[in-house]
Amino acid sequence: KIPTAAEIRATFLDFFKEKQHTIVPSDNVGYTSRDGARIFTNAGMNQFVPIFLGERQADVDTWPGVLSKGLPTRAADTQKCIRAGGKHNDLEDVGLDTYHHTFFEMLGNWSFGDYFKKEAISWSWELIVERFKFPPSRVFATIYQPNKEKGDPADRDQESWELWAEKFRSVGLDPEIHIVNGNKKDNFWMMADTGPCGPCTEIHIDLTPGPINLDEDRQRAGAKLVNGSDASCIEIWNNVFIQYNANPDGTFTPLPAQHVDTGMGFERLTSIIQGTKNFTDFETAKISNYDTDVFEPIFNELTKLSGKHYLSTLPIANEQGHVIPVTDQEKIDVAFRVIADHLRTLSFSIADGIQPGNSDRNYTLRRILRRAVKYGRTLEFKEPFFYKLVDVLAQHMGDVFPELRVKKDQIKSVLKLEEEAFNRTLDRGIALFESEASSRPSISGDFAFQLYDTFGFPLDLTELLARERGLTVDTIGFEKLMEEQKQRAREAGQKNKKVVSMTEIETKDATQFLGYDELSTEAKVLEVV
Ligand code: ATP
Ligand code: MG
Ligand code: MG
Ligand code: MG
Repeated sequence: KIPTAAEIRATFLDFFKEKQHTIVPSDNVGYTSRDGARIFTNAGMNQFVPIFLGERQADVDTWPGVLSKGLPTRAADTQKCIRAGGKHNDLEDVGLDTYHHTFFEMLGNWSFGDYFKKEAISWSWELIVERFKFPPSRVFATIYQPNKEKGDPADRDQESWELWAEKFRSVGLDPEIHIVNGNKKDNFWMMADTGPCGPCTEIHIDLTPGPINLDEDRQRAGAKLVNGSDASCIEIWNNVFIQYNANPDGTFTPLPAQHVDTGMGFERLTSIIQGTKNFTDFETAKISNYDTDVFEPIFNELTKLSGKHYLSTLPIANEQGHVIPVTDQEKIDVAFRVIADHLRTLSFSIADGIQPGNSDRNYTLRRILRRAVKYGRTLEFKEPFFYKLVDVLAQHMGDVFPELRVKKDQIKSVLKLEEEAFNRTLDRGIALFESEASSRPSISGDFAFQLYDTFGFPLDLTELLARERGLTVDTIGFEKLMEEQKQRAREAGQKNKKVVSMTEIETKDATQFLGYDELSTEAKVLEVV
C-alpha cells in the first residue's frame, strides 16, 4: 500500500517520538530575524535560534501547552516555511521545476546539547532505509570538505564520513561512491558571519530511471552531486551539526555544547515514495512534488473551475539555459503548479496574520498573488478564481494546520479583494506590454515603471512576461524611477492618504492592515508599520 502524505508526515514524527523527541508545533510563517527585520520563516531551526545561541533553554514558555515536564533536549516538528526572498529565494523556480516551492513543510529533528553526529546519522539512515525502505543504492550523502586554498573554515567532517561509511558498508555498498565531498557553500552552515556554525551532511536520492546496480551507474549519480543541482539526484534532507563558534577575529572555536539541526522537505519525501509507488517503479515513475496527494485536491478543484487538465509536462531549458514553457499543455501545467504553490503561500501567510501589502514581505505576498492571477489567464480565468481554492486547501490541510479552517473566511475575502483590484488593470497592462514587446528589442525602465505605477505590475511580473518572449528588462532604470517616486512621496508626506476601513489582525507579528485607499482607482493598500 502506498502511504498518504499524512501517513508519511506521521511516520516521521512518530519515529522521532520513539527516539524521545518532544513533538512541538510549527512556528508562525512570519519571523522576526535577529536584526529586527520581519521576514518569513525559511527553515525549521528559526524558532530555535535563541536556544542555539545559549540565550535561553527550550522551556515551557516556548511551547505553551506542549511541555508538561522538564526541559526538552530533543524536539521534532513539521515547520511551515516560505522561501520567496532574501537568502533563500526560490520564487523563480516555482512551476518550472517540480521540487522548489515558495511554501513548503520542513520536517525536522533537533538536539539541544544532547545527541550529536552518531545518533543523527544513524537515525537518518534508519528512517530512510529501514523504515521508509528507500533502496540504499540510490542514497548519497555529501560531507564537508574545506578548500584550504580559499581559506575555508574548520576541518573536513571526517567523523560524518566514517559514520556514513559504516552504514553503506553494512549493505555492501562502496562508501567511496556513496559519500561525496561538498563545498563550503552547500556543506558548511553559518547563521551569520559570527556565532554558532558547523558542517552539514546532505542526503540525496538518485532518481535515474532504470536499474542502477553497477558501480559505474552510481558513480554517475555521485558525479551529478559534485556538479551541482541536477533534478535526477535531488536533495531531501540536511543534517547540520552546530559545533563551532565563529569569532569576530575570523577564528573558529569549539562550542561548549553541540547541537543538531535537521530539515527534510516533506513534499520531496512524499514525491519519491508516492511517485515510485513505494520504490517499486523507478522506470515510468513521475517523481514530482505536484504528483502527490499534497496537491491533488487543489488540482482537482482547479480542473473543476477551469475545465483544463494537469498532465505533468515539464518544459526543458532552451539553448540559453532558460526554462520557458512552449506548448499549450506546458503552459497549462506551469500555471497549475504556480497557482497551487502560490495558493499555499498566500493562505498560510494570511492565516498567520501577514497580509498582501505595499512593502517588505507584505509586498512579496502581493507580488506572488499577482503572479497567480497572471497565470490564471493561462487557464482562461477572467473573474477572481484564486480565492475559490481556499476551501479545498483548508479542508485538506486543516487537520494538521487548524488555523486554515479558523481563518478561512478572512483568507478568502482578502484574496478576493486583491484579485478584483488587479483584475481591473491586468488585461490592459498585458495588451500594452504586447504592443511594446513587439516593437522593441528590450523593455525600458520607463515602460516597466509605467506598468508598475499605472497597472500595478510588480517588476518581477514584467520580467516574467519579458522572459517568456526572450526579452530583457532595464531593471536599473526601473529602480531609479522607483527611488525618485519614493523621494517625491516622502516630500509630499502622508497628507493625501485616507483610511476607509479597518480589518482586525490577531497575531503578534502582523503588519497593520488599514484597508483600501478610497482615493485611488487601483485600490492600493496603505500600511503603517
Ligand atoms: P536545494 O539545494 O534543493 O535548493 P537547500 O539546500 O536550499 O535545497 P536546505 O536549506 O538544506 O535546502 O533545507 C532543507 C530541506 O528542505 C532540503 O533538503 C529540501 O528537501 C527542502 N527544501 C529546501 N528548499 C525547498 C523548497 N523551496 N521547496 C521544497 N522543499 C525545499
Ligand atoms: Mg535552496
Ligand atoms: Mg542544497
Ligand atoms: Mg541543503
